[in-house]
Amino acid sequence: MTKALFDLTGRVAIVTGGNGGIGLGMARGLAAAGASIVIAGRNQAKSEAAVTELATSGVKAIALTVDVNDTRSVKAMVADTLKAFGRIDILINNAGINIRKPPQEIALEEWNEVIQTNLTSAFVASQAVHPAMKESGGGKIINIGSMLSIFGASFAPAYGASKGGIVQFTRSCAIAWAPDNIQCNAVLPGWIDTELTQNARREVDGLYDKVLARSPSGRWGAPGDFAGIAVFLASRASDFVTGAAIPVDGGFSVQG
Ligand code: NDP
Repeated sequence: MTKALFDLTGRVAIVTGGNGGIGLGMARGLAAAGASIVIAGRNQAKSEAAVTELATSGVKAIALTVDVNDTRSVKAMVADTLKAFGRIDILINNAGINIRKPPQEIALEEWNEVIQTNLTSAFVASQAVHPAMKESGGGKIINIGSMLSIFGASFAPAYGASKGGIVQFTRSCAIAWAPDNIQCNAVLPGWIDTELTQNARREVDGLYDKVLARSPSGRWGAPGDFAGIAVFLASRASDFVTGAAIPVDGGFSVQG
């Protein structure tokens, strides 16, 4: 019974930015539960390496070269997935970037790049998968937010706007597409050790220890911490969960 609830055999998942970090952590979880995986990123070598690794667990996995900032590329990702697998059950909008500058310094082009990558691409991809999910009787969309979906930060005006926006976008889709049996939820990671935060640690003195100091769990998160939430939100186990924004943060957001 429990195994059937979480079984993803026969399901097809697209993970944008699935070639590393949190996205790969989620892809590994979905693959372990039996899903076929589409890894979508710009770096083809990284995506191929992820696919090779996932295929060792016996699932089908393919890499697509996708720039989520290019609407045609996102639409092609959806078309190519349908061509390869004939269906799309799960979409994880995970690709994301940050440009660390205060509001008085960030250029319009930089603002647009962050909003496009973190927020607009999720809209474009979700709209593009909706017909296939509706036609097959349902689906699961998982959007990746942040602690900055909740908190503000002087260094992240565009990033914070995109991550606040993604939660509201998730709620909108959750309501609109509930009649189509498509559940839409957001995951809000705490501080996770990935390339993104390794770059931040190079730029911000003492960041590693500051995060540790206010983390009830006493550690940074790891990509592997996202396997379980991905399987839950992609599986029948979450069929009555929609419009939620779930922190996966070791308690960071509840620390006063
Ligand atoms: P990484 O930098 O490790 O991964 C980011 C991924 O996004 C890469 O796989 C990259 O692939 C992909 N990506 C970036 N831009 C594009 C683009 N234009 N088109 C396609 N793919 C793109 O970061 P994380 O794993 O840390 O981040 C994943 C998500 O989690 C992001 O949305 C981030 O904001 C969020 N997050 C991370 C936190 C953390 O502490 N690490 C905390 C809160 C949220 P490629 O370069 O091949 O295109």
